[in-house]
Amino acid sequence: MEPSVVVVGAGLSGVACARELAAAGVAVRLVDRGRRVGGRMASRRLDGRPVDLGASYFTVTDDGFGAVVTDWQRRGLATPWTDTFTVLEAGAAPETKTGPVRWGAPGGLRSLVEDLADGLEVELGSHVEALPDAPTVVLAMPDPQAVRLLPDDPSFAAVRRRLDRDYEPVLALSARWPGRTWDLDGAFVNGDDTIAWVADDGRRRGDDAPVLVAHSTPAFAQPHLDDPQAAADPMTAALRDLLGLDEPVETYLHRWSIARPTGEREDPYLLEEAGDRLVAACGDGWGPTSKVETAWVSGSALGRELVRRLG
Ligand SMILES: Cc1cc2nc3c(=O)[nH]c(=O)nc-3n(C[C@H](O)[C@H](O)[C@H](O)COP(=O)(O)OP(=O)(O)OC[C@H]3O[C@@H](n4cnc5c(N)ncnc54)[C@H](O)[C@@H]3O)c2cc1C
Repeated sequence: MEPSVVVVGAGLSGVACARELAAAGVAVRLVDRGRRVGGRMASRRLDGRPVDLGASYFTVTDDGFGAVVTDWQRRGLATPWTDTFTVLEAGAAPETKTGPVRWGAPGGLRSLVEDLADGLEVELGSHVEALPDAPTVVLAMPDPQAVRLLPDDPSFAAVRRRLDRDYEPVLALSARWPGRTWDLDGAFVNGDDTIAWVADDGRRRGDDAPVLVAHSTPAFAQPHLDDPQAAADPMTAALRDLLGLDEPVETYLHRWSIARPTGEREDPYLLEEAGDRLVAACGDGWGPTSKVETAWVSGSALGRELVRRLG
């Protein structure tokens, strides 16, 4: 069956959208440039274990997403991590802050997207450079990536105008020590030029490995985007300073040029007729707060709407 819908982007939103379509019997092709699905829910194997280098955790408020998470939990794929984080600020005593339960995945967050993609036809390693030739195309990715695929044609001007959300960059540093000499699950870092957030990867993933993942501030990341490896030493020094740590035995740095959207946009997805086709977009940039749950909600809602229109 020729696919009537092509979804470009096999992060959580694209996979959620494709699942809705496939479940309703709509022929769908899912394409991603990566070697694996998952997008920014990215885990990389370092020293024999997956480390989460993109999203740190997820939270649950939506009932539909809650049902998916309950199923992951039942099968041991997702586990509640913590509801309490530390707040660090220079010159102030550390505080703790309690909030919603944050969830992690023993196999890394990517394993959850892989689970949802099970049974879908996914074409990996395929960098799409122009809008695919299909009656309906879904761009399940951040606006700056989606807008590059649009034809330079007046009939796409309305779509182009709506894909206007900027994203800011983040550098993620993974660092491993011989043993744990700190006591925190995660820490928001206020007022630091270099580091904005630190997570204990061993605790969130449940194997207790002495591995921390630090995320930079966008301002620190920006001038390092062309040569991110040059940021590894200053980030490691800032992390050691912050928590009073010895030199780590291993570090790894990952660059996210497009990490998180700025500003706000409440629309759950984009769906426009352009030229002779239907062009749609979904992802964490569509909805109230940019996060894992928003990506799922956006992709699923778009998938259901497409089923209604195409069915
Ligand atoms: C450093 C960092 C920390 C974060 N922390 C958290 C957190 O703690 N909690 C939370 O809830 N969320 C967090 N997030 C956000 C979360 O990761 C995202 O909301 C979610 O993963 C977005 O999913 P998505 O499907 O919208 O986009 P993505 O995951 O970005 O998926 C887009 C996909 O499109 C593919 N693609 C792009 N262009 C092309 C092309 N031309 N051809 C083919 N494929 C293409 C990409 O390879 C990618 O797989 C964080 C993100 C980052 C980067």
